[in-house]
Amino acid sequence: MSLVNLATPEIWFVCGSQHLYGPGPLKQVAANAQAVVDGLAKSKHLPLPLKFKALLTTPDEIAKVCIEANSDANCAGLVLWMHTFSPSKMWIRGLTTLKKPFLHLHTQFNRDLPWSTIDMDFMNLNQAAHGDREAGFIHTRLRLGRKVVVGHWSDDEVQQRIGAWMRAAHAWADWQGARVVRFGDNMRQVAVTEGDKVAAEMKFGFATNTYGVGDLVEQVNAISEKTITDLVAQYEKLYAVSPVLKKGGKRHDELRYSARLELGMSAFLETVGAKAFTDTFEDLHGLKQLPGMATQRLMAAGYGFGGEGDWKTAILVRAMKVMAGGKLTSFMEDYTYHMSPKGHQVLGSHMLEICPTIASGKPKVEIHPLGIGGKEDPVRFVFDAPAGEALNASLVDMGNRFRLIVNEVKAVKPPALPKLPVARAVWECKPDFKTACQAWILAGGAHHTGYSYAVTSEMLEDFATIAGIETVHINAETTISQLKQDLRTNEVYYHLAQGIRA
Ligand code: MN
Repeated sequence: MSLVNLATPEIWFVCGSQHLYGPGPLKQVAANAQAVVDGLAKSKHLPLPLKFKALLTTPDEIAKVCIEANSDANCAGLVLWMHTFSPSKMWIRGLTTLKKPFLHLHTQFNRDLPWSTIDMDFMNLNQAAHGDREAGFIHTRLRLGRKVVVGHWSDDEVQQRIGAWMRAAHAWADWQGARVVRFGDNMRQVAVTEGDKVAAEMKFGFATNTYGVGDLVEQVNAISEKTITDLVAQYEKLYAVSPVLKKGGKRHDELRYSARLELGMSAFLETVGAKAFTDTFEDLHGLKQLPGMATQRLMAAGYGFGGEGDWKTAILVRAMKVMAGGKLTSFMEDYTYHMSPKGHQVLGSHMLEICPTIASGKPKVEIHPLGIGGKEDPVRFVFDAPAGEALNASLVDMGNRFRLIVNEVKAVKPPALPKLPVARAVWECKPDFKTACQAWILAGGAHHTGYSYAVTSEMLEDFATIAGIETVHINAETTISQLKQDLRTNEVYYHLAQGIRA
């Protein structure tokens, strides 16, 4: 699935060695590295192209490739592997310059040892077992965040772990220079949707700026009736449109207005080159409806979205959509609870804006009143999200740093909800409702989240490592006493590690 404004960068594979071994073995090392890349490139788990960049044997070569990686927008990261021993002082200059994410693959060319024929030549050629430890020391000595993946390169689990990191690296590359459009500010008096946009741009590379809703209104009003007619006809083909909204129905004009909103917003976002946006029901002057279906459709096209001016969740949803390849990912809010002794559940939804990529079955298009905002009734998709393993993620601003909080959940099929005309999901938290909610609240997690069936905790952890921010995992292993200790330790670590550059 293609996402709006998404480039597909590549990952460079870099092999380290040295000149001690002579030209013959180095030729063999390069050929083996190429074979590893060819093997990995065939894996269905790797979402980005992997390119064998170079065999590096000197400090100058290493520095040159690192500088090249920094300046090549098409390079989203590097995989490093030391086929033989590569004295790691050679890597200091290059790695201190490197701004791109890297993964350290601790593998070796051969899978099995040829026990009956192994000799010293074989031993000298296949030294990753100690060469990669020398590399690991300098990465750790330089305090470089990276992912370490261990195992033979043909191993399915190894390829999956590389794939997860590639998805994170892709989302990170996508954030660099990304633009978040805010229509209006955030909902008055709300704290968690606030944050330091300067710190966010320094840390994450995306820029968040406000745009007057009046400028949007101008674009919305400029959309031609013909374009609207075409889009509305598409709606009727794609979705189960309620009879009153269909062509000839008595509220058809309201569906047409929703289409007008979608086209106007889409044109506006395209002009800015945005990847995510927010709006707020407190600032809709000149718009007849709070955008419901319009926002839902734009989210499905790949825009990140956060309600009530929540720009951090909007851009997080975008990153999660990139990691997920556009699938099964939405803006979400913990709305209300089922606190039955037989099993606690969370009903997740929003006033309107849940992405139809998480719809099970064909979404219905309906119109109903909205008790908030004082506008005309908004058109919206109504659907159930499916059962399955999922997660919620929240990015909060702690004042001196950002924190990513992730809760793994098990979504269940929602019961019949005949009186609730919004898109919704129902899930059970891990390790259990009480522990998960206590942990989430202690960690300061927001009521808004990015919700996904396709993004994994591993991808988000890799993403946080690339960004250099704290991650709080709430999952089957979580205990409150350990979590409290981790939060205290992290307060000190992240404060010290960052110094005064907050
Ligand atoms: Mn909300």
